Amino acid sequence: MTDRDTPRTVPLLDLRPRALLVPGAAFLPESRIASSGRLIDTRGRPLRDLRISVTDRCNFRCNYCMPKEIFDKDYAYLPHQALLSFEEITRIAKIFVAHGVQKIRLTGGEPLLRKNVERLVEQLAALRTPQGQALDITLTTNGSLLARKARDLKAAGLQRVTVSLDGLDDAVFRSMNDVDFPVADVLAGIDAAQEAGLGPIKINMVVKRGTNEHEILPMARRFRGSGIVLRFIEYMDVGATNGWRMNEVLPSSEVVKLIHAELPLVQLEPSHPGETAARWGYADASGQYDKALGEIGVISSVTQAFCGDCNRARLSTEGKLFLCLFATQGYDLRSLIRMDASDADLASAIGHIWQGRDDRYSELRSALAPDAGPGGRRVEMSYIGG
Ligand code: SF4
Repeated sequence: MTDRDTPRTVPLLDLRPRALLVPGAAFLPESRIASSGRLIDTRGRPLRDLRISVTDRCNFRCNYCMPKEIFDKDYAYLPHQALLSFEEITRIAKIFVAHGVQKIRLTGGEPLLRKNVERLVEQLAALRTPQGQALDITLTTNGSLLARKARDLKAAGLQRVTVSLDGLDDAVFRSMNDVDFPVADVLAGIDAAQEAGLGPIKINMVVKRGTNEHEILPMARRFRGSGIVLRFIEYMDVGATNGWRMNEVLPSSEVVKLIHAELPLVQLEPSHPGETAARWGYADASGQYDKALGEIGVISSVTQAFCGDCNRARLSTEGKLFLCLFATQGYDLRSLIRMDASDADLASAIGHIWQGRDDRYSELRSALAPDAGPGGRRVEMSYIGG
């Protein structure tokens, strides 16, 4: 990996004194932003969700995220000392919570590969919003280690999990994770999570035309009425390594039509602002939504962009703040922390960054020339989490 291959890093400086200017650094105004209170970006979107990547490593090589040819044994993964410690993550999270974050999602790579991740969950679960409420702490996993860890995660304070599962057919599943990992072990992980009370569980299936669309109906049949919410994700041009092509995208509208033909669906209202999935409930014989049958979701970043109320910030494993899944630059919060910046400095830096945010890549994508991308190299999903 060379410098030109990685997204731009914006070093942040202690705002005082100005003499410390570094070329290319984001020089944040000296005006201070209060350490608490809602933050609204340039498009009127409040900061509400924080996704924290706790490792850039994974034991799968899903070809739409971490293709084996790129992420091989010579790939330059982050050295341990570059990672934020659990204490640093919790400190940053606390500042985000004071600025309105209500939900924290732990991601990766594969977050359950991070040693003692339960300890981090415990620390985050102890945080409270300014109104004294508990946070919604969730985690996205490939499920490979879930059977072993579900109980401990629950005991540590994790509320829910989202499991990535791209098919039920063992051969399809093994070829998509590209490490020959059996689907049965992930299904056992989902059962263990359900038994441990880590619910409602969500399952994310990335649909790639020509690869696994024939798994859509078997998946819907399997999880209908199970209490698990199955979401179908359009294959996205995340990062710069998965060789994305538009003709491999199966629009969500076709997924809904396919399921509806066999298992009738009715459209449901979003459950909260900024929800990424459009909700469809299974209908009973009279055509009404039947809660017992449950619902599905479709996440349509390519054909139905949802940037309008995107309220998500992303923190990379080494402490860079990204404002969009398709960002080409991240703001280096770790250097501020390790330069002994105060919480007020950090809060002010985060405030300025969010208030200056205008990201809306998915809205712009269709206007961009194919594969043009937003100028510069997009960050890898395995580095900042989905
Ligand atoms: S493309 Fe970026 S701004 Fe739009 S919804 Fe996704 S993360 Fe949010």
